[in-house]
Parts: sequence; C-alpha cells; structure tokens
Amino acid sequence: AKAAGKDRAELFDPRLRQEQIDRVRMVEHLRAGLEHDEFTVHYQPIVALCSGLIVAVEALVRWTPPGRPPIGPDRFIPAAEDSGLIIDLGERVLRRACADAAVWHGRYGIAVTVNVSPRQLADPAFTAKANRAIADSGLHPSALTLEITEGVLIGSGAQALAHLHALRAEGVRVAIDDFGTGYSSLAYLRDLPIDTLKIDKSFMPADPTDRRQTALVRAVVDLARSLNLTTVAEGVETAHHADLLRELGCDRGQGYLFARPTPSDQVTALLTTAWNA
Ligand code: C2E
Ligand code: CA
Ligand code: CA
Ligand code: CA
Repeated sequence: AKAAGKDRAELFDPRLRQEQIDRVRMVEHLRAGLEHDEFTVHYQPIVALCSGLIVAVEALVRWTPPGRPPIGPDRFIPAAEDSGLIIDLGERVLRRACADAAVWHGRYGIAVTVNVSPRQLADPAFTAKANRAIADSGLHPSALTLEITEGVLIGSGAQALAHLHALRAEGVRVAIDDFGTGYSSLAYLRDLPIDTLKIDKSFMPADPTDRRQTALVRAVVDLARSLNLTTVAEGVETAHHADLLRELGCDRGQGYLFARPTPSDQVTALLTTAWNA
C-alpha cells in the first residue's frame, strides 16, 4: 500500500514527471544521434612537465547535432550510461581514438587515453571489442591507456578486473581517473592492475602559496610515486600550478594552460608545438 502511494505521488508530482519526460527524450535523441553519427572526438594534450612536450592526448567525446551548438559530455553521458547506449557510443569513441592515434603515434610518438564507463567494463565482450579496435587501427597496444574511475571496481568487480588484466597482458595501460573524488582506498590502489593515477582537478590549489592546499597535492603525488604509478594532474590552468607540480615531482599535466580539448584536424598543429619548461 505504501509503495502504491509512493508511485501515485511520483506520477502526479509535476517536477518528477517532467524529469522523467526529459530523460526519456534525451535517450531518444541520443539514439537518433548515434544513428546519424553526430558524435565526434576532441583531444586534449597531456604534457610531460619536465620537458614541456606533449606525450599523450585524452579523447573527449562531443555531440554535434547539425545546425545546433555542440553538447558537452556532462549533459549526455549520464543518460547514455543509464540507458546502456554508452556501450555503443563508447565503442565508437574507442575505435575513432585508436584510428586517429595510430597516425599521431606513428609520426610523433604520441599516446592516447580513452574514458571507459563502468557499463562498458560490465560487458563481457569489452576485451574483444577493444582488441578489434586496436587491431583494425594498427595502433601499438602500449600507446593506449584506458581511463577508469575507482567506482568501476566496486560495481562490476570481477568482470571489469578480468578485462583490465586481459588487456594489460597485451600492453594496454590503465589509469585511475578523477583520483581522490570517489571511493579512494589505499588498499585498492595497491592491488589494482593500474599504471597511472590522474589527480582530480579539484586538488589544484586556488592559491598556490597556501600550504594547506598544496599539502593535499603533495600527499597524492607522493603516494602515487611510492606505488610506482605515473602521475597526471588535471586542471592545470596557471603557470603557478605547473611550477608547483614540477616541484612536487608530478610527471604530467593536463589543462587549459597547455590547451583546450581540440578537434582532431587541429591536433597535428598542437603536436608540433612544445611548451618551455
Ligand atoms: P574527465 O575524464 O575528468 O575529463 C576532463 C574534463 O576536464 C574535460 O571535460 C575537460 O575539457 C576538462 N578540463 C580540461 N582541462 C581543464 C582545466 O584546466 N580546467 C577545468 N576546469 N576543466 C578542464 P569534458 O570534455 O566536458 O568531459 C567531461 C567528462 O565527461 C569527462 O571528465 C569524462 O568523465 C566524461 N567523458 C568525456 N568523454 C567521454 C567518453 O568518451 N566516454 C565516457 N564514458 N566519458 C566521457
Ligand atoms: Ca578522463
Ligand atoms: Ca578526470
Ligand atoms: Ca572528471
């Protein structure tokens, strides 16, 4: 009786009803967008802080419906995840990124990182799909890093781990994304098959002279280094950030200081540029 009452309340709550309609509509639009191939991939440089050279690019999906402004992933990834459409979308991004990166890796030695959602890692076919993307593109497996969030291993544990182990055995690398924002557990970090730790942008100090703020970044960089993980700082927006990270021994930086996410046809111009360390 209580459950029925709750259902009825939801049905007649105009705000909840609108949210449901919006969600259903978003999923319909997403499905049409996939059908019409309206998704593109932008790339943001990841820079070696000591040399100032671009060593990799992160693939970031964009939705560009014709005649309408591009839509950022924060607005559609959640609906794509809920509906399962992320499995199709994620595979397309992975295939596109491998194909683009095969060219850049051949010419400039650049690696690529691709975001992989928990739903993709719960799919038993993920390893096979990733292997096909790698083989079809000709990209060297070690030039591909999969970015996963800590939550992945909590939700779909065994299946996700099996994929990561299988792909890593072939040379693919694994990074923990947004480190410090999720279910961070030191035991997890020690036991997971990972190579890289991406420090979430919320750790970048607003005031680089504030010892309390910088203490946090320092602690995370030290932790990652002691576990032999490559460290990448996200959200590097100022020269102060870059200086601080270099001083702390962080390996790589990514952020607006270096470049914004960039359409693929403009990436070559970026790759021939270096920042002075
Ligand atoms: P993320 O993986 O943490 O990606 C980094 C986000 O930070 C990107 O937002 C990027 O544009 C933004 N960013 C880069 N430099 C700076 C900076 O200096 N300052 C600030 N404030 N932000 C910076 P974007 O492209 O809007 O992507 C948002 C999120 O959407 C990503 O966060 C990722 O979680 C998700 N996403 C993007 N592409 C994909 C994809 O192909 N598959 C999946 N599953 N998720 C994706
Ligand atoms: Ca990422
Ligand atoms: Ca991130
Ligand atoms: Ca993020």
